[in-house]
Amino acid sequence: MTIKTADVIIVGGGVHGASTAYQLAKAGINVVLFEKEYLGSGGSGRSAAGLRQHFGTETNLLMAKYNLQVFPTLEQELDTGMDLEFTQWGYMWVAYTEECLDQLKKNVALQKSLDIPSVIMDTDEINARWPYLCLDGIIGAAFCGEDGHINPQTLTLSYGHAARRYGAVVKTYCPVTKLLAENGRIKGVVTENGEEWHAPKILLSAGPWSTPLAATVGVELPVYPERHNLLITEPVEPFDCPMVLCLDDGAYFKQCPNGTFMFGRDDQDEPHTTETANSAKFLEGVTKSVLKRIPVLSGVRVVRQWSGPYDNTPDHNAIIDWTPVEGLLVNCGWSGHGLQFGPSGGRVCKELLMGEDPFVDLHRFRLSRFEENDLFFEPAFI
Ligand SMILES: Cc1cc2nc3c(=O)[nH]c(=O)nc-3n(C[C@H](O)[C@H](O)[C@H](O)COP(=O)(O)OP(=O)(O)OC[C@H]3O[C@@H](n4cnc5c(N)ncnc54)[C@H](O)[C@@H]3O)c2cc1C
Repeated sequence: MTIKTADVIIVGGGVHGASTAYQLAKAGINVVLFEKEYLGSGGSGRSAAGLRQHFGTETNLLMAKYNLQVFPTLEQELDTGMDLEFTQWGYMWVAYTEECLDQLKKNVALQKSLDIPSVIMDTDEINARWPYLCLDGIIGAAFCGEDGHINPQTLTLSYGHAARRYGAVVKTYCPVTKLLAENGRIKGVVTENGEEWHAPKILLSAGPWSTPLAATVGVELPVYPERHNLLITEPVEPFDCPMVLCLDDGAYFKQCPNGTFMFGRDDQDEPHTTETANSAKFLEGVTKSVLKRIPVLSGVRVVRQWSGPYDNTPDHNAIIDWTPVEGLLVNCGWSGHGLQFGPSGGRVCKELLMGEDPFVDLHRFRLSRFEENDLFFEPAFI
């Protein structure tokens, strides 16, 4: 068998793998990316496309702030002709209890200290600005007008196509079956079609599939899938509707740039699977919950429903770290908020793979936090 080589191998063509491939290739690194299906076929292409700077920890906020610096000019930078649909219609976290509102106030105070223009709004302000919302029982909300939407499919594809333009080899429909290591060092990958590729550095960014792949070289990752569902309605006349997240039952909704509405709901009872079957329970539950908050949508038809896997960790935060196998870097476990971190996740992985200091301190994302029982709890997660 002919063994092929690269400077860096990336396993997984979601937004993180594709962004890293782009940033490495642009820096002149010989990079090969393997994706088992098509770019974005995992969590990335199935996400709710929400962008936010509403986090309650400094590490996530610094990265979220960087993402929002990149997105406005990213379509021009990647230059693939694809519309990234970047829009800043705002994102609102709605509190129904004092405890929740107190936490939102703490998050907003931290955001403001980092020059993120978030505000706490009271019910009068909310009713005046969005009179069509029926948020009965709410006591306040956190809102950031810079937050918004990015198209998950075109974002991931654009990163992949731009990476190719800079010389990266992007191999789709090419699953990696195992990683190879020798004497404690990473060595390469074997693919389903029988190819063997060697590289001194490998990035494993295969979302929830990272766990079985890491196990092939004895690395244990606490990342597991959890199915989440979304639906989209037919388009309606655009009206100023931010992304709204209701913290009582985890329902969320927003209008997309093409006029359609997207509904989702956090449901901890969904199975821990990468299978993408649709759930009738979701359809019934989410429509009841969302329509009571935005009754003007009653009668609007649902045109599509789909599901995708969150790549959860026990503390619902990512792992970006070198593993005990020298040369093997992981970036996975984004637990439902990883799409928007494509720019910053790709940047820190490129920096680590090139031996540079990452632009943010990644200590909170380290792999050893799980065995040290020093978990990284993010108060703003869905
Ligand atoms: C319903 C839903 C809603 C979401 N909403 C949001 C949101 O609004 N905002 C947000 O920021 N995030 C959201 N997320 C989370 C976000 O989608 C993920 O955190 C993010 O996309 C993870 O990106 P990734 O590149 O790490 O992984 P993935 O996108 O999962 O990519 C991993 C890739 O690895 C590939 N792969 C797997 N095994 C192999 C193998 N053996 N060989 C080669 N390739 C392999 C997979 O096919 C996949 O394409 C949502 C997720 C879901 C499911």
